[in-house]
Parts: sequence; C-alpha cells; structure tokens
Amino acid sequence: MTVTAVVPTVPVLVSAPPRWNFAGFCDYCGQRGCTNTRCITLYASSWWMVCPLCAGTGDVDGDCCRMCLYGVVEANSTTPGAIRPAVSG
Ligand SMILES: [Zn+2]
Ligand SMILES: [Zn+2]
Repeated sequence: MTVTAVVPTVPVLVSAPPRWNFAGFCDYCGQRGCTNTRCITLYASSWWMVCPLCAGTGDVDGDCCRMCLYGVVEANSTTPGAIRPAVSG
C-alpha cells in the first residue's frame, strides 16, 4: 500500500517534543541530564511541523515512521504551521 502523506498548509495543533527523551537523555547530544548551552540554544531556536512522511500518524505501511519524533519533524521557520517549543532554555 502506498501512503501519500498530506502536509497541512494551514496552522494545526502541533506540539514540539521535549529536548530530552523519556529516560532523560538529550535529543541533540545523547547525554543524560544535559545542560549544554549549545543544545539548549539549538532546541530553543527550533521549529517543528507535522511529519511529511507519515502525516503525523507515526505509521508508514504498518511500520514505525523513521523520519519523525512522535509525528513531528524539525522545520524551517517559514514552513506554514511550524511552531516553536513552548518552553525556552
Ligand atoms: Zn545535549
Ligand atoms: Zn513520521
């Protein structure tokens, strides 16, 4: 089955994932409990959008989507519907 992802072109309810995974490891450097300024800055300046591969479902032909984090991917600031993390720092 071929999945054709539809990327919303209007703002939708998108949430940025946290900077750490659920075990407390930084998504950027992989260190537990990271307080690295570079990682904090990267995260604070990131934008997120619905995954164009799985359309946010996290599922591609019955397998987990390998492109996104929980249905979202980093985006450009100019991408329609892209949002920034709710928390700074
Ligand atoms: Zn880090
Ligand atoms: Zn995806």
